[in-house]
Amino acid sequence: SKKIRLDKMLANMGLGTRSEIKKAVKQGRVTVEGKAVKDSGLQVDPFHERVELDGEAVSYRETIYLMLNKPQGVISATEDTRDRTVLDLLEPEDRVLAPFPVGRLDKDTEGLLLLTNDGQLAHELLSPRKHVDKTYEAEVSGLVGETDIQAFKEGVTLDDGYVTMPARLTILRTEEQHDGTVVSYISLIIQEGKFHQVKRMFEAVGKKVVFLKRVAMGPLLLDPSLVPGTYRELTEGELERLK
Ligand code: URA
Repeated sequence: SKKIRLDKMLANMGLGTRSEIKKAVKQGRVTVEGKAVKDSGLQVDPFHERVELDGEAVSYRETIYLMLNKPQGVISATEDTRDRTVLDLLEPEDRVLAPFPVGRLDKDTEGLLLLTNDGQLAHELLSPRKHVDKTYEAEVSGLVGETDIQAFKEGVTLDDGYVTMPARLTILRTEEQHDGTVVSYISLIIQEGKFHQVKRMFEAVGKKVVFLKRVAMGPLLLDPSLVPGTYRELTEGELERLK
C-alpha cells in the first residue's frame, strides 16, 4: 500500500504545522513501530505502521477536498429518503472517505459545492464571523435595475423580518422574451447563507429567481470545465488559498 512522508501524515491529521512536527520528531517524541525516529521525511505506511506522538497512537484518515458542479435535482446532504444526494455522484473510492457538503444549495440550484471530510475547514468556511463571499449568477424574471442594486447594498427585509447584510448586485444583461416579458441575468455576492437567501432577496424586491447557480465561494472559483454532475479534487493552490 501507499507510503507517505511521516511529517505529511502527522500534518494531515491536524497535529501541527510541518515545522512543528519536524521539531517534535527531532525531540524524539514520534515513534514508528515503537522506535523513536529522527527523520521527519521518513516514508511510512500510515494504514499499517504504528505511529505514535507523545506515546499516543495516531490513527490515520485520508483527507479529501472535492469541487463539485452540483446539478439541479440532487440534494446537498449526505442522505435523503426520496431524492438522490450529491454523494451519489461520487466514485466509490471517494465516497468511502465520507466527505460532506460545506453548506447547502437548494435542490434546484446548480454550481459550486465543496465536499470535504475536513471538519475544521468546513467549520471555518461556514462561520458567519468569517464573512466568506458567495457569488451567485441568476436568471430573474422582470427588469432588475438601479433601485435593486441600491436596495441590496443597503439590505432588504426578508419575509421573516430579517434584514440582509450589504450585498453586491451586478446586472449582466437583460433580455426581452418573445411574449414581451423581460428577464435579467445578474450576479450577486453575499456573505451570509440564510435559507433560500438569494431567492428571498429577490422576492423582497418583487422579483422571481428562475435559475440559480453558485460560481464562487471565497477564493474558490467553479471550474468552467466541470459540467453539472462532475467533480474534481482541489489543486494544491486552491487548497492553500482556502486554508
Ligand atoms: N440562495 C438560494 O436561494 N438558494 C441557494 O441554493 C443558495 C442561495
